[in-house]
Amino acid sequence: MGRDDTESARVLYHTYMKLPLALTMTTLWLLLAPGLAAAEWLDRVEDGIMGTRIHVELWADDPAKGQAAIEAVLDEMRRVDESMSTYKPTSEVSMVNARAAQGPVKISDELFDLLSTALDYSRVTDGAFDITYASVGYLYDFRKHVHPDENKIKAALPGVNYRHVVLDPAQHTVRFTQPGVRIDLGGIGKGHSVDRGIALLQGRGITRALVTAGGDSRIIGDRFGKPWVVGIRHPDRKDEVIARIPLEDSAISTSGDYERYFDEDGVRYHHIIDPGTGHSASKVRSATIIGPTATRTDGLSKTAFVLGPERALEIYNRLDDIDAILVTPDGRVLYSKGLEAPTK
Ligand code: ADP
Ligand code: MG
Repeated sequence: MGRDDTESARVLYHTYMKLPLALTMTTLWLLLAPGLAAAEWLDRVEDGIMGTRIHVELWADDPAKGQAAIEAVLDEMRRVDESMSTYKPTSEVSMVNARAAQGPVKISDELFDLLSTALDYSRVTDGAFDITYASVGYLYDFRKHVHPDENKIKAALPGVNYRHVVLDPAQHTVRFTQPGVRIDLGGIGKGHSVDRGIALLQGRGITRALVTAGGDSRIIGDRFGKPWVVGIRHPDRKDEVIARIPLEDSAISTSGDYERYFDEDGVRYHHIIDPGTGHSASKVRSATIIGPTATRTDGLSKTAFVLGPERALEIYNRLDDIDAILVTPDGRVLYSKGLEAPTK
């Protein structure tokens, strides 16, 4: 997975709106009931895992168990990072990149499933989402303000095409059809790790929680009769929120051109790459996707940058379980059908 320059989460703000009466009553009752006074909201922010900020918040009937659950989520994220980061030469993905052009490489069930999902998203998005973007993407270094020249891009571009990645379900292997192909799961891995974290919490009986990794969040349950509220930040003004979205039992991902970038000669070089051109994809400033899982919302949030708002909204509107909020370069905010205000 990639490494963020900024530690800032795109999802800027979330909180419950007003403490509902039910919660106040519950808390009061618990405080009064001897031996049961401990249930509470727990909240943890951790920087550095997967090069980004992790945030876990949950309602714990037993705070000790709640803290242990949070630790388990953080450990799970470290484990996913160890296996999927292209910055770690020992990761499973790095091993695939080193060997898969020579022949099939046996991989874990987890990686096999995530690669299958990634290829599926490539097909759904007309190739806008493409983990082989890395065949040219590795030539950029946004922290050091490095970008490739046209010749380098031209030489690397033939390696970019998700069809170069061939999975064999019988053998559980992956191979690349040609040399020069690299994959990077930076566009889907944080969403995946969030889903893993949520599954882990559910396995421990937690029914109200939020897990965020960078721009990818998933929520289970509500806040005692009220939804969670997730804010989408303004692309240029990081303390300003352009929309607040009430959510229960769903995932939300925001991608933005302001996350990992540098400007040079009036051009913004940022971390979402158009697989067709090898350049940064700039047809929107930010894209927020709401859907059932963070893997899915993460995987689909890059599409609008590459295809532009009109084509991307066509795709998002075709997918029953997805909604989208896009900010265009001229500052318009566009919504998918499911979020549009009724006309009458
Ligand atoms: P974050 O990694 O902070 O969650 P995004 O969800 O916006 O941010 O994902 C951006 C990452 O997606 C990039 O850093 C890169 O690893 C990866 N990526 C860039 N372009 C593409 C693309 N066209 N298809 C798939 N993944 C991409
Ligand atoms: Mg993401």
